[in-house]
Amino acid sequence: MNLPGIFRARCAVFLFIASAPCGMCEPVANAVRSEAKTPVIIVPVRVHLVQSKATPAMHTTMTEADVRRIFGKVNMVWSQADISFEIESIVRTEAAAVSPELDAKEEFTRVIAMIPKASLCTTALNVCYVKEVKPNGFFHRGLIVVKETASLQTVEGGIDEPLPRVTSHEIGHALRLAHRQDRTNLMASGTTGFSLNDAEIKAAREIAAKFQKPTSSGAAQTDSTPISEISFNHSNPE
Ligand SMILES: [Zn+2]
Repeated sequence: MNLPGIFRARCAVFLFIASAPCGMCEPVANAVRSEAKTPVIIVPVRVHLVQSKATPAMHTTMTEADVRRIFGKVNMVWSQADISFEIESIVRTEAAAVSPELDAKEEFTRVIAMIPKASLCTTALNVCYVKEVKPNGFFHRGLIVVKETASLQTVEGGIDEPLPRVTSHEIGHALRLAHRQDRTNLMASGTTGFSLNDAEIKAAREIAAKFQKPTSSGAAQTDSTPISEISFNHSNPE
């Protein structure tokens, strides 16, 4: 995917409906210019590269360079909403041992329990990469988990690799967006689509504003509501 790809996505509905000659794109171009004045919301993210010798499924072999490449694309996807995710830190987080009683719990609960609370940043979104879980990713109790081995159904105009899309999709859930099964959009399950509609952009910006980085003047965040109460568990595929 590239920037023109996003512009194409923004124009797609207009072009398909109107089958317009090039001159008809002018209103869209104006709209894009006016959207550019929307303030960009910068949301800090702590990225956890989960490590575990005892549990190979939890141990990612991804690198910091992978994370920076992925978030470059995540930010292209979310530029539709003028939301930008700034990496606060990339940490290697050692997974906690699983107690026998947790072993019997559902995967979401078990995986989240293995991420030590002390490693989490309370003023950022926390995104944890692991090697293998059943879904491509999930959002549960305030934590985003994405598997390194994610795979997606390719759709026209979709993003060119799974991890930025799965990460962006789970961030969508963290911003309280629900599924919308339209194949080519970001909140469809298991596809490479990445478009957002106006309602999703508005809703996501409202939640993202609660997480935005304090201003350089040191102004405190006045409404940094924890998102730990919200969960979107995917039994299939993300
Ligand atoms: Zn989902």
